[in-house]
Amino acid sequence: MTKHIFITGGVVSSLGKGLTAASLALLLQKRGYRVRMQKLDPYLNVDPGTMSPYQHGEVYVTADGAETDLDLGHYERFTGQACTRASNYTTGSIYSQVIQRERKGGYLGKTVQVIPHITDEIKAAIRSLDGPDVDIAITEIGGTVGDIESLPFLEAIRQLRQEIGRDNGLFVHVTLVPFIKAADELKTKPSQQSVGILRTIGIVPDILVCRCERPMGDDHRRKLAMFCNVEPELVIEEQDVKHSIYEVPRDLAAQDMDVYVLERLRLHVNCLDMADWEAMLRDLIEPANGEVEIAVVGKYIELRDAYKSIYEALTHGGIAGSVRVKVRRIESEALESGSPAEQLSGVSGVLIPGGFGLRGVEGKVAAVRYARERGTPFLGICLGMQCAAIEFARNVCGLDGANSTEFDERTPHPVIALMEEQKRAAGMGGTMRLGAKPCVLAEGSLAARVYRALEISERHRHRYEFNNAYRQAFEQAGMALTGLSPDGSLVEMIELPSHPWFIACQFHPEFQSTPLSPHPLFAGFVQAARARR
Ligand code: GLN
Repeated sequence: MTKHIFITGGVVSSLGKGLTAASLALLLQKRGYRVRMQKLDPYLNVDPGTMSPYQHGEVYVTADGAETDLDLGHYERFTGQACTRASNYTTGSIYSQVIQRERKGGYLGKTVQVIPHITDEIKAAIRSLDGPDVDIAITEIGGTVGDIESLPFLEAIRQLRQEIGRDNGLFVHVTLVPFIKAADELKTKPSQQSVGILRTIGIVPDILVCRCERPMGDDHRRKLAMFCNVEPELVIEEQDVKHSIYEVPRDLAAQDMDVYVLERLRLHVNCLDMADWEAMLRDLIEPANGEVEIAVVGKYIELRDAYKSIYEALTHGGIAGSVRVKVRRIESEALESGSPAEQLSGVSGVLIPGGFGLRGVEGKVAAVRYARERGTPFLGICLGMQCAAIEFARNVCGLDGANSTEFDERTPHPVIALMEEQKRAAGMGGTMRLGAKPCVLAEGSLAARVYRALEISERHRHRYEFNNAYRQAFEQAGMALTGLSPDGSLVEMIELPSHPWFIACQFHPEFQSTPLSPHPLFAGFVQAARARR
């Protein structure tokens, strides 16, 4: 039988619930258990795919093509376990299921209500993780306890734990213990109140994870235990990490959080083997080969969460070569007025991530030109590849005014154009080319050398793509089209054989990189940058 752990958050948002959940999952996995993870988000969008990065940060794409919350990226990076559509539900997706069923007469004349119909649908979503190959399912509830919109989710987990019993379900509450400077003190009151709200809806947390900037003393622990009805050893301290988020599992393990979880769930406490994780942390925290600086040129650069997986994958690329990757974040629009050479000077690599819309595109094109002309290692991803194609068309093939029809519908040279299947797509939600697709690499290409394979599978999220009418012009001018869809109809990767390291891909390799298994493109890119340095 699959056991369940429910993770809620208190006091404020952005507490790092996702990281806590992912860290716990890793520890349980390293004790020999098969773990699955899931996030339930209380907003009304059916998925985050239609939200601006300013609202929501990055949209994470699963192999099976779901556009999901970025916490799923943490889940996959920590556990190495692929998430699926069943790993992310929202209020919008739950309600649309229920409403569709109601329209089909599926409720047999009943009044359809939040309780039991919405809560039943939420419980079914949680139990969709159950199976003979899953020992423990971890479900994170988005938002903060006390929000009106998270109530149905909390009621659903309350009911579910009642149904499966205390030995099979566990409540973990992640909360904030703020440090008040003027009083020179950590304060437990907000956490007590947050647990108070949970209690009024019938949930008593089994474990309290306290996010704090300073270490908590025994007195705080006792106080929280006393007022929140938790045993003192189940008040876990989660201080801000010193170097990296990948240290969180180590900090939780030092307090035996995983041991208590297993004991509570009546599961055997096998040994914990963190040897590979510890080795990875050494390469990350004390790299043997110094530092490289890489420019990331994007449109949402001031927002750390907008390119979350890109930054993580660069870090993983550094781990692979035991080198620290320092990122110079460059707002692409700023390259349009200023001189790219000035802003990019001294970097050992240039990366252009994915994106949508016209703003900043010309700055990205300028950054490609800089990297191409100077021999600076270049990695273009999705929109980054499209910008590389636009730059090459204009400045090497002599196709003046070349562009993507996304930015200029009347361009004389639409080197990037809407995919055929997209011309028929209706609406915006979930209609892009999404998820993992196979790709065949050209023998002898840099791409094939980097991947050490000729057949790969990568995740996509796009509407536009390389226009096949320009294949010949590109190849004649020296751009190799080295990754194609198996039927040969879509250009997925391009590279410049005359350049030390210039690769661009239509897919998003960053979604498949983990600290224990850095993605070959990122490892290769960082290695090339190191050689350049
Ligand atoms: N806007 C481009 C497209 O839709 C690129 C998308 C992306 O970078 N994810 O094809």
